[in-house]
Amino acid sequence: MGATGYFTHPQCMKHEMGAGHPECPERLSAIEDRLLVTGLDMALQRREAGPAALADIELAHGRMHVAALRGLSDNLRDDVAAGGPSHTALDSDTSINVHTWEAALLSAGAAIEATDAVMAGELENAFCATRPPGHHACRDKAMGFCFFNNVAIAAKHAVERHGLKRVAIVDFDVHHGNGTEDIVAGDERILMVSFFQHPFYPEGGSQSNASNLLNLPVPAYTRGMDIRELIDMMWIPRLEAHQPELIFISAGFDAHREDDMGQMGLVEQDYAWITHRIKDVALRHAKGRIVSCLEGGYSLSALGRSVEAHLRVLADV
Ligand SMILES: [Zn+2]
Repeated sequence: MGATGYFTHPQCMKHEMGAGHPECPERLSAIEDRLLVTGLDMALQRREAGPAALADIELAHGRMHVAALRGLSDNLRDDVAAGGPSHTALDSDTSINVHTWEAALLSAGAAIEATDAVMAGELENAFCATRPPGHHACRDKAMGFCFFNNVAIAAKHAVERHGLKRVAIVDFDVHHGNGTEDIVAGDERILMVSFFQHPFYPEGGSQSNASNLLNLPVPAYTRGMDIRELIDMMWIPRLEAHQPELIFISAGFDAHREDDMGQMGLVEQDYAWITHRIKDVALRHAKGRIVSCLEGGYSLSALGRSVEAHLRVLADV
């Protein structure tokens, strides 16, 4: 069995969106604490991510979106130096501080480096404990706590730079990965399978008609047993038919029963079960190659325990 990478960077803790915002730096501390207290960190190959190249970001995003975020960041830095406010709001729940630009590049960079490492055979699979998250970031728009779509960028990197013919993105966040869908819809090299609470933020997702998307909207209060059945009936046959050479995971843990951001009923054992199922497909078709990127998960204790469950399966410990 190959090694499991754990990609992160201290700069990802410096991006924050204001006091009391749920997508907070403490999320990463909660994960780190859990790895330390359980000793699981000893089973992981820890790597510090480098920033993504703009050319890679632009595999998934319009040049104007990238330039606008950089411009806003430069303006904010000047404003803060002149004694102005510490944040610039992009929408009602998404804002930048002076560290956001660099953290966003590192978050995408971690996904790319993890992809390179599993493709090189240095690692069998990897988890990116980075923020900001990515799956709501559309080709030309930041939204929902997301600026660059880390998973979509890495998936495009895998097919464009590594020449893979088939990859898959599995999204188990409680929210619909609308940004990922916006970027990959119609790209038959990339199969996206997901479930999400519906109706719910960010709306949409239930009527996507691109043939490379399998969206499973589920009602609030759906429990793990129902999700497992859906996965076996719907996800697995599609993944098996696609035969992905590499599987990306948009790993959001906000469908956990204790997470108030959503109203679903998953628990740690469900995340372990889902990870097992994904890993089985990866072992059959992709030499075990999985790159998993943190998305949501806002109950700090549940997040730490759920990531532990996810990593135990990835690392086989
Ligand atoms: Zn979410």
